[in-house]
Amino acid sequence: MSSDTVDMATPDEGKVESEATTPQDNALAQLSRAAEEIEVSEYVIERLSHPHKVHEVTVPMKHDDGSHSMYTGYRVQHNAVRGPYKGGIRYHPEVSREESIGLAMWMTWKCAVMDLPFGGAKGGVAVDPKTLSETERERLTRRFTEEIRDVIGPTKDIPAPDMGTNPQTMAWVMDAYSMQEGETIPGVVTGKPPVVGGSEGREGAPGRSVAIITREALDYYETPLESATIAVQGYGSVGANAARLLDDWGATVVAVSDVNGAAYDDTGLDPHEIPSHDEVPEAVTRDAETVITNDDLLGLDVDVLIPAAISNVLTAETVEYVQADLIVEGANGPTSAPADELLEARGIPVIPDILANAGGVTVSYYEWLQDINRRSWSLDRVTRELESDMLEAWEAVREAHETHGVTWRIAAYAVALKRLEAAHEARGLWP
Ligand code: NAD
Repeated sequence: MSSDTVDMATPDEGKVESEATTPQDNALAQLSRAAEEIEVSEYVIERLSHPHKVHEVTVPMKHDDGSHSMYTGYRVQHNAVRGPYKGGIRYHPEVSREESIGLAMWMTWKCAVMDLPFGGAKGGVAVDPKTLSETERERLTRRFTEEIRDVIGPTKDIPAPDMGTNPQTMAWVMDAYSMQEGETIPGVVTGKPPVVGGSEGREGAPGRSVAIITREALDYYETPLESATIAVQGYGSVGANAARLLDDWGATVVAVSDVNGAAYDDTGLDPHEIPSHDEVPEAVTRDAETVITNDDLLGLDVDVLIPAAISNVLTAETVEYVQADLIVEGANGPTSAPADELLEARGIPVIPDILANAGGVTVSYYEWLQDINRRSWSLDRVTRELESDMLEAWEAVREAHETHGVTWRIAAYAVALKRLEAAHEARGLWP
């Protein structure tokens, strides 16, 4: 431990910070909150408050009708002290420098909590992909890849899919990069289709990790899985996979939602019968006997609430009516900093995103290992390795939670920040 440390301190009781609005605000608020409670070098906290590099590029694209548009793209590389940068590429109108910095920071913590040899990155293009044809999306992706080609690579920075992008997008990135490098380099991106080096089990991995962590957390709080009731907000890749696994393992899923509202049955829904966002978009309430609102779902008296849709759904306002005994974050950043403090004051544990949904980046790591070794793993092996890595991360966070007497989020930060601090101290500051 270095001498310039931030002492453990108790946050002002009853003090609620102003609502953080961007992922960068939220990520910085979480980091400074963690720094108040854990002994970590001041230099390391200061270093981690700033990204290493922010790349901003202009992406010109020719539309199918011959007209042109100029889009802005970003690649933020937050920290690489433990290994190459790793993080998604997002296509969304609100992609920005601030959003990419916040999301890149979360990737740094997530990789460190999981003890993966990666740092954090994020990026994307400020565009609404729904307004583009398939051929336009391909041209945009190839040109964006070219614009960031010199800063990505299998040992530099490895992108993955995120909002608005998918395995096909990653196949185009891999092809565009490989064509310019003159050789096929599958390890430059993860989340590819398995025919070009993608991993079995990648798609379902974030939902699987949410289910594993929910199971462990219920066990910790001595609630049998078989008697647990669960509500899931968001029925996409993360929410549907988590709900279905928890149902398979004996839990009772009483509500699931999409952007239109929630299907509800207090005796239990069959999540396998409800189409996920990928299967039939926004069809959760289509055949439901009882439909409630998303706000109603957040207020259900269940054992576990899993917000798995978008960020900032649990705010100082909405947490007022949360009645769940436990929250497991499926989405990235679903709980604002003030909401987090209110939940802590009410004694409702929140298992953080950087642990719970980290199955995605963990199987991305397996994919990268498979790519650089030119070997593919079976689904069974991926499932076994993920189970074991999630349990190891859970144990590390549980130990920090008990040792420091802090919330689960601070405990996850403690695990991540200690590993990052150790790497920074071992490497030193160059020159
Ligand atoms: P998705 O697009 O597959 O599904 C999102 C679901 O949320 C849809 O059912 C949609 O209708 C619903 N939704 C959207 N807005 C909503 C709202 N305001 N209220 C209620 N429901 C709403 O997305 P996904 O891949 O499952 O990702 C969900 C969250 O998990 C995001 O925060 C994402 O960043 C995070 N995440 C995803 C992955 C991954 O690999 N898919 C990994 C880690 C974290």
